[in-house]
Amino acid sequence: MTASTAQTTMSDGTKGLVVRGLTTTFDTTRGLAIAAADVDFDVAPGEVVGLVGESGSGKSVTLRSIMRLIREPGKVSGRVEWGGRDLVAMPAEELRKVRGGEIAMIFQEPMTALNPVLPIGVQIEENLKAHTGLTGSQRRARALELMNIVGIPAAERRLDEYPHQFSGGMRQRAMIAIALACSPKLLLADEPTTALDVTIQDQILKLLLDLRDRLAMSVVLVTHDLGVVAATCDRMAVMYAGRIVETGTVAEVFARPHHPYTRGLLGSVPRSGHSRTMLQSIDGTPPSLTALPQGCAFHPRCSFATEICRTDRPPLDLIGAGRRVACHHHEEVAAAEPIL
Ligand code: SF4
Repeated sequence: MTASTAQTTMSDGTKGLVVRGLTTTFDTTRGLAIAAADVDFDVAPGEVVGLVGESGSGKSVTLRSIMRLIREPGKVSGRVEWGGRDLVAMPAEELRKVRGGEIAMIFQEPMTALNPVLPIGVQIEENLKAHTGLTGSQRRARALELMNIVGIPAAERRLDEYPHQFSGGMRQRAMIAIALACSPKLLLADEPTTALDVTIQDQILKLLLDLRDRLAMSVVLVTHDLGVVAATCDRMAVMYAGRIVETGTVAEVFARPHHPYTRGLLGSVPRSGHSRTMLQSIDGTPPSLTALPQGCAFHPRCSFATEICRTDRPPLDLIGAGRRVACHHHEEVAAAEPIL
């Protein structure tokens, strides 16, 4: 389903996920680190939105902040509306019912996210026990069904096996089975295929899309891989130094990036259908989150930068339906030679 065909409301009349002004800070010995700042985005029911950027750009922190998984001394403010409720302000008891039930998360590293001393089947059943009224035998049957849905062979036997007996790809599938146990309406996936070889990666992504279609589930997919975004996402939000700097449909952003950072990311990956050219890299490194440059945080690395960029931070302006960019010179960037 594309962004344009995705429904904008859920069956109960509420919107999907609405994130407004989400800000996450950490008090560190080097000062206040602003890991995510004023993050705004929406995810319609059945839509897949990619959060993209380099390491430290704020993608994973944003996902964890939505789920209130930021530990002290981290602080989260802003609004995360889901089903007409604000997850940021929700009492802990109520939030526990939402987590793992309506909203599920797949973590980046399945080996550390899975409990090493519990069989996989028990870990799936734990989620069902917390969020459904199923009996023990019904939970076991559902766990088996989930193992089959995510394509784990010999599922009946493997329900009683431990994470170390699973390969990397199978562990990732097991994580997905746990996440999907209660048929969530929203899946937050943090680099779900990073550690996997391309064949397994392809299978897992196809599986997620298939499940999205079957369960009408919304997905927020965090990745640094633009190939993954092109293959799976309807819309994308590019993050830099904790802020969203560009959003739009995947087709629009890939065809005509308006932010120099997005342009740089696109120039640094091979693209099919184009003649062989040198890949470009983005000069410099991302800034420290405790010492962000004044003005636009990207200005020390930006070939389009002018004086205003060094003093005034550009707002995330609406430049078309669902299309936003934070750049003083976005028209010039969009009109620049295309990146091949
Ligand atoms: Fe570059 Fe200026 Fe745009 Fe920032 S605002 S991305 S420095 S041109």
